Amino acid sequence: MPNGPVLIAGGGIGGLATALTLHQIGVPCMVFESVREMRPLGVGINLQPNAVRELEDLGIGEEDLDRVGLPAKEWALVGLNGNDIYAEPRGRLAGYNWPQYAVHRGQFHLLLYKKVLERIGPTATKLGHRITGYRKNSDGCVSALVESADGSTTEANGTLLVGADGIHSAIRAQMHPAQPPIHWGGAVMWRGTTWGKPIRSGASFVGLGTHRQRMVFYPISQPDPRTGLSMINWIAEVTMDNAEGWKQSGWFRGVETNAFAHHFDNWVWEWLDVPALIRQADGAFENPMIDRDPIPTWQDGPVALLGDAAHPMYPTGSNGGSQAIVDARVLGAAIVEHGVNRDALAAYDAKLCGPVSQLVLRNRGAGPFGLLNLVDERCGGTFDNIDDVIPPKERTDFMAAYKAAAGFAIESLNKAPRTIDDGARARLS
Ligand SMILES: Cc1cc2nc3c(=O)[nH]c(=O)nc-3n(C[C@H](O)[C@H](O)[C@H](O)COP(=O)(O)OP(=O)(O)OC[C@H]3O[C@@H](n4cnc5c(N)ncnc54)[C@H](O)[C@@H]3O)c2cc1C
Repeated sequence: MPNGPVLIAGGGIGGLATALTLHQIGVPCMVFESVREMRPLGVGINLQPNAVRELEDLGIGEEDLDRVGLPAKEWALVGLNGNDIYAEPRGRLAGYNWPQYAVHRGQFHLLLYKKVLERIGPTATKLGHRITGYRKNSDGCVSALVESADGSTTEANGTLLVGADGIHSAIRAQMHPAQPPIHWGGAVMWRGTTWGKPIRSGASFVGLGTHRQRMVFYPISQPDPRTGLSMINWIAEVTMDNAEGWKQSGWFRGVETNAFAHHFDNWVWEWLDVPALIRQADGAFENPMIDRDPIPTWQDGPVALLGDAAHPMYPTGSNGGSQAIVDARVLGAAIVEHGVNRDALAAYDAKLCGPVSQLVLRNRGAGPFGLLNLVDERCGGTFDNIDDVIPPKERTDFMAAYKAAAGFAIESLNKAPRTIDDGARARLS
C-alpha cells in the first residue's frame, strides 16, 4: 500500500485480533504496544459464542482455547438464601453452534500474541512503543506519534490508524477532546483466583448476592486430575457512595485480601465458604467498576477506535473482550468490502457504534445482573420461591433481551453468515 501499513495502537485482545484479521485478508499492519514485555496479566474473562465463532474463523480453535480455559456450561444467579434466582445452560448446551469459553485473560492474550508472532512475524509488533496521538496528512495518510520506552519520539506513517489502546485511550482523547472523565457508578471490584472445587455443573458462572453486594465466581481451568481442584476466578463486589468520585490512586492495583475480605465474613454455606475462597488467593486486584459515556462516532477520517477505546463497558455482561474480537472482524469485513480506506472505517462505525453504545448503557444498568435489582425492588432480596417474585417467563424474557442486544441471541447467531468469507482478501490499491 503506497501510504504504508495499517497502524494499530495497543496490542491487547482487540489490537491483536485486528492484526490477525488484517493478516488473514492480506493487509499489512504494524502494532504499537506500550508495555516492554507481554506478560499474562489479569484474571478471568468470558468469550461468548459470537467471539468463539470469530476466533474459529481466524484459525484459533477449541484445542487452542482448551489450553487457556474451559467451555462454560451454566450461568446462574443465586440469592443470599442459597436459592436460585435464575439458571440457564451456556454454549453448546444452550443450543449455540459454538461454545462459550471461560479463560484466563492473560493466557488468552499471550495465545493471541503467539499467533501474531507465528503468522505475521516478530517485527509486526513493536513493544515499548506508546502512541501519544495522530496527525491527518493532506495526502490522505495518517501519522501516529510514537514515544519509545527510552523517551525518544518519532512518527510512523500508515494508510489507516486503529486506536485499540484501551479505556485510557490517547487516540480517543484526541478524537473527542471534550469527552467527560471516566464514569464510576460506585461499585468496587476485587478480583483474584484461588484453587478450589468447582460447584454445580463443574463449569458454572455463579453470581451470588444482591445488587449492592455480590460475589461472582467461575472456574477457568479444567480440574487438576490429581487434586480435582480448578483455578476459580472470583470477583467480590461492593457498591459504595460515589459522591466524591474515586479517591484511590490508579484504576487497577494489587491489594491484600485482608483489605476487603471482611465485607464477606458471614457468607458461609455448606456448599461455599466465600471468606476462605478470598483468603486462600495469593493476592487480589482492586478496580472500580468504570466505563465512559458513549461517543457519537468512533471515526475521524483515517482513524477508528476499537475495543475498550471505543466502548469501555462494565463487565456485568461479560462481553468486553468478546466485543473487541467482534469489532476486529467487522472492521476486517468492511475492509474486504470497501478497501483499505476511510469508507471501510465509516461502514464499520455505522454498523457498530450505535448498537454497542446502547450496550454500554445497558451494562451500566446492571446488564444481566438486573434481575438482582428486580428481586431487591420487589421483595427486598428475601424470598422463598423466586416464581412468586419474578415469574419464569419474565426472567427468561429479561435474559433474552440482553442476549439479543449483545449479539449472542442463539437463533440469530446460528443463522448469521460468516462475518468474513473463507479466503476473502482485501483490495490493496
Ligand atoms: C493488564 C490488563 C488486565 C486486565 N484484566 C482483566 C480481567 O482480569 N478481567 C476482565 O474482565 N478484563 C480485564 N482487562 C480488560 C479486558 O482485557 C478488556 O476489557 C477487553 O479485552 C478489551 O480489550 P482491548 O484490547 O480493547 O483493551 P485492553 O485489554 O485494555 O488492551 C489495550 C492495550 O493497549 C495498550 N496501550 C494502552 N495505551 C497505549 C498507547 N497509548 N499506545 C500503545 N499501547 C497502549 C495496553 O498496554 C494494552 O495492552 C484487562 C486489561 C488489561 C490491559
